[in-house]
Amino acid sequence: MYLIEVILDVPLYHSFSYTHNQALDIGTRVLVNFRNKLIVGFVWHCKQQVTTDGKTLKPINKVFMEKINAEILQLLDFASRYYHYPLGQSLFCAIPLALKSNTEINNKFKKNKSVVNLAPTSPLLLNPQQQTIVNTLQEKLNAFNVNILFGVTGSGKTEVYLELINQVIKQGKQILLLVPEINLTPQLVERFKLRFSDANIVIATSKSTNNERYSAYTGAKDGSVQIIIGTRLAIFTPFKHLGIIIIDEEHDQSYKQQDSFRYHARDLAVWRAKYNNIPIILGSATPSFESLYNYKLGKYNLYELKSRAVLNSQLPELRLIDLNLEEGHSDLSTVALNEIEKRLALKEMSMVFINRRGFSPLIRCYHCGWIASCSNCSVNLVFHHLNNQLRCHKCGQKKSVPITCPACNSHYLQTLGSGTQKIEQVLIDNFPTARILRIDQDTLKTKSAFNQVYQKIKNNEVDILVGTQILTKGHDFHNLTLVVGLNIDNGLFSFDFRSSEHLYTQLTQVAGRAGRGDKKGLVLLQTNYPKHELYSYLSNNDFAGFANYAIKIRKDLNLPPYVNYAVLRISGSTQQKVNSYITKIYPILKQLAVPDITISPAVPSVIQRLNGKDRMQILISSANRMNLQVFLDKLVVVITQQYKIPSNLNWHLDIDALEV
Ligand code: ADP
Ligand code: ZN
Ligand code: ZN
Repeated sequence: MYLIEVILDVPLYHSFSYTHNQALDIGTRVLVNFRNKLIVGFVWHCKQQVTTDGKTLKPINKVFMEKINAEILQLLDFASRYYHYPLGQSLFCAIPLALKSNTEINNKFKKNKSVVNLAPTSPLLLNPQQQTIVNTLQEKLNAFNVNILFGVTGSGKTEVYLELINQVIKQGKQILLLVPEINLTPQLVERFKLRFSDANIVIATSKSTNNERYSAYTGAKDGSVQIIIGTRLAIFTPFKHLGIIIIDEEHDQSYKQQDSFRYHARDLAVWRAKYNNIPIILGSATPSFESLYNYKLGKYNLYELKSRAVLNSQLPELRLIDLNLEEGHSDLSTVALNEIEKRLALKEMSMVFINRRGFSPLIRCYHCGWIASCSNCSVNLVFHHLNNQLRCHKCGQKKSVPITCPACNSHYLQTLGSGTQKIEQVLIDNFPTARILRIDQDTLKTKSAFNQVYQKIKNNEVDILVGTQILTKGHDFHNLTLVVGLNIDNGLFSFDFRSSEHLYTQLTQVAGRAGRGDKKGLVLLQTNYPKHELYSYLSNNDFAGFANYAIKIRKDLNLPPYVNYAVLRISGSTQQKVNSYITKIYPILKQLAVPDITISPAVPSVIQRLNGKDRMQILISSANRMNLQVFLDKLVVVITQQYKIPSNLNWHLDIDALEV
């Protein structure tokens, strides 16, 4: 008889014992009886045994053909321990739906093979800076090394990837390219398919169908797919013979999952590169401070592309518009309106960026000061033009705009501030004949919507684009020569210590859209603080300078990447319930004897109420990663066993949290 340990999709930190009359491979998909239900699990351990030590164990009900490979299981084991998330739930987050169903997988899952009938493009002749980097990296293809590719927007990072990928394909190995969620443009995919027309390239994103995901998974596993281009979840794709991992825009926050299994795909990618003894490339115009810190420590290499790749293409000129000198309160300054007008005459495209969707973020009573806020969350409701609605951007609640103030019955309800819809209206008012296209989450609801937008732009059917950060990434619009950034100052003074890093990154991305062809670009940033240090680094295109300045502040204040952060969040229907549990465990946590751990007092989360739940958090930090791990292991025992959290409260740990 064999004793089989099985991992199941349950919020518990251990596996479950079953018996079987044969040995089973680790990772085998099986069907077992759990609490009188037949559910799918995966074999975690298997050992031959004569007795069950007096325990009555159930037999395995069914053994399926599929197996999760050893590397992925080890990766998940590592991730589950590192992120303190139950192994079974981590695993079930990471696998395609088909593997979770408790039936046989039939061959309804067809393989999707990429088809291109178009003539393949030949590689560009690399410029000397690109060639030097390719030469260096191709010498190191058969060893583990982490390489930051730090190149200004349009410096030809993607061409460097393509050349390295070419070498890896020649070696008969596979490629994993991760891109941020909103960066996966048809343009990028087209570029890969044209360049490697013989290779089987498969896209794996959260928008892929279950069938697509499963065939990407099996194709990579059996080696029939050469290149997987995917978003963060694709980090769990099994490969037959992985040769290189490339993380494009490695600083992007979408690589961190923000709910349930809170893993960081970039960090797991480094683990996989090490496991496979292969290189990993982290590309960005604004590398994350975490990666730069690792470079400083000598763990990562750094290669730099200093100028734009297209001959005669220069980085755009960046001009700050001092809003203090503007008369009146219009959203678009006179300078910006004039420059847009010039572009219209030249038949060049302009883009107006404002990182807020909806018409205006606030509606209030002029008379008594009442503000429309969400009943489930501690945020204000955003006014949307369409259907005259108020919407919560956190929980999705929708309401119609009241005719009179609910507090004082006054008719004087006013909107404050601007979002994409309002700016679109301002542009229509100023340029009634221009073809204006708004791009934000509200206009890009369907998968095909982006393709349509992209086609319109490609066919020169758009004069002015207006939108949120969705339009700032990855796109290469050759006729775009003017970018206007509105409402950008928020990031300067936020309580979030990462906000200036994010602002810099975002503005670099926005600015990087301008002048990618042979016409010089202009970037106008409207600000109330034109003398702020961040803007002077930005104007000089000096990311390295900015990073030095900002990282020094982090060091002085003992913030990441100099220390490691973990956040314990607890939520429940009332603040009182949450508080009473925290009051109970806080002194216990304080007494856990682990050196070098700082436990901050419990505070309400930034958005205290979300989806009808009150939330509080405790920040735990340590410069010593090992000690932090040890402490968190003990903390989990406190919460799940010693001082078991009541079932009406929720809790989670967020390791290397982005939101603190
Ligand atoms: P990045 O990934 O750094 O934003 P890309 O690789 O997309 O840069 O290159 C930006 C533009 O420069 C693209 O239009 C690309 O075709 C062009 N380009 C890149 N490398 C070269 C080269 N060696 N010669 C000519 N054009 C190039
Ligand atoms: Zn009122
Ligand atoms: Zn809400």
